[in-house]
Amino acid sequence: PPVVVAIDGPSGTGKSSTSKAVAAQLALSYLDTGAQYRAITWWMVSNGIDLEDPSAIAAVAGKPEIVSGTDPGNPTITVDGMDVAGPIRTQEVTAKVSAVSAVQEVRTRITELQRALAGSAERGIVVEGRDIGTTVLPDADLKVFLTASPEARAARRSGELKGSDVHSTREALLKRDAADSSRTASPLAKAADAVEVDTTELTLAQVIECVVTLVQE
Ligand code: C5P
Repeated sequence: PPVVVAIDGPSGTGKSSTSKAVAAQLALSYLDTGAQYRAITWWMVSNGIDLEDPSAIAAVAGKPEIVSGTDPGNPTITVDGMDVAGPIRTQEVTAKVSAVSAVQEVRTRITELQRALAGSAERGIVVEGRDIGTTVLPDADLKVFLTASPEARAARRSGELKGSDVHSTREALLKRDAADSSRTASPLAKAADAVEVDTTELTLAQVIECVVTLVQE
């Protein structure tokens, strides 16, 4: 039977790299749900939607067509047919995504897409996000919750972003996690039956091995 793996946790814990590698090693599909929230945020910014107004966000939540490719070797994301893999990673989208993802209408829409993709993955899927184990796929075969110290998370993120310093990265990251954890609609949270893995002192290879072992157990 197909195996469903949910990987949640805050940013900078190695979620994406780990999830992609685990999916590739086990020949499973892969879904980056953060990319979907970034894509809808990119569309709202591009269309001049007032992101201070949750009802304005809710009113257009159904408009953009978001399509995710689930090959871990080449994860793609399009909005209305346009490749947005680059534009969804800008600082502007990163700073605004929490406001958009806090709106229930947005979450309902994106959650539907996520469940459809998980349900149609032939061999199974690794789905990474914030609320996968708690809300999107509560019956997942394995739930992993990745954590790391704020220092380690900020250092990893500023290593990824050219020209950014650790201190401003740390502030922005903590602010986003605080917003994602305190919203009412499916906040970032560890499911009661999730296995918590603290990655602070681990290399990426060690985290990948740990999760692969958990899937195979
Ligand atoms: O994982 P990534 O940092 O790309 O996620 C971007 C944002 O998307 C998060 O900060 C959060 O606001 C939102 N998100 C979410 N639920 C998920 C995945 C991401 O609300 N399952």
